Amino acid sequence: MSPKNILITGCNRGIGLEFVKQYLTGANPPTHLFATCRNPDKAPELVELSKAHSNLHVLTLDVTNHASFPELVHSISQVVDQEGLNLVLNNAGLLPSEKEGGVTPEKMREAFEVNTIAPLFLSKALLPLVKIAAQKDASAPMGIEKGAIVLMSTAVASISENSGGGNTAYRASKTALNQVMKNLSIELKSDGILVMALHPGWVMTDMGGPNALINTETSVGGMIKTLSALTDKDHASFLRYDGTGIG
Ligand code: NDP
Repeated sequence: MSPKNILITGCNRGIGLEFVKQYLTGANPPTHLFATCRNPDKAPELVELSKAHSNLHVLTLDVTNHASFPELVHSISQVVDQEGLNLVLNNAGLLPSEKEGGVTPEKMREAFEVNTIAPLFLSKALLPLVKIAAQKDASAPMGIEKGAIVLMSTAVASISENSGGGNTAYRASKTALNQVMKNLSIELKSDGILVMALHPGWVMTDMGGPNALINTETSVGGMIKTLSALTDKDHASFLRYDGTGIG
């Protein structure tokens, strides 16, 4: 089983774009897949896919533009109506380079805006739609077919696994994201909405670089499998793309 209605952020390239490709071509494609990006004019591959797949809706979204969230929610609700949104995948992320000048207050702010604050408030804005989906089958076990909010974290957010240091802004913002995930999981438990964080692996993208260990196909294929197997026991979990846990 796959979720009926999905929203993914940061879909013009990298892991987000690969999620769109694999969900569209999987065994059970979503009824509606909302793929957001900052500028569709600069997302030719995504726009091309939407011409071939009528269930793909490309929406403009800078995740730091909180003022735009109500309009985004309105346009999604016009499409999904009483079905709601089953899966919100907060994928967009930013790794400010600290190679020159080290960490600065500006880099800390940028990282927190995109990696921590945006996923929290976008998830909250979309929550009424996720609640509609989750309430449709309130007695069903937790899972992405019911209603779920997923945060794209990283293994380097783990304090216990930090042996190398570096990338302070990125690390700290993603560690804070994990705490956001934990709090949301507590707040949304009674609604039956599953909340968890994923580590996609070290992936060959603009962010991961050419020396990364896996390609986007392997990472996203693993994450889709891991996501589809989630249930109550995975609420508030922090899992690698292959389903193994991180401390
Ligand atoms: P990329 O750098 O390839 O892509 C980042 C995506 O985030 C782009 O679509 C980018 O859009 C989008 N984005 C950045 N800022 C904003 C914003 N303000 N509003 C909307 N979208 C924005 O990274 P990956 O695909 O590799 O990373 C995806 C996620 O996976 C991130 O959250 C990252 O932290 C996480 N991750 C990646 C790892 C890796 O090895 N690649 C390892 C661990 C975690 P635009 O093109 O407009 O900038």
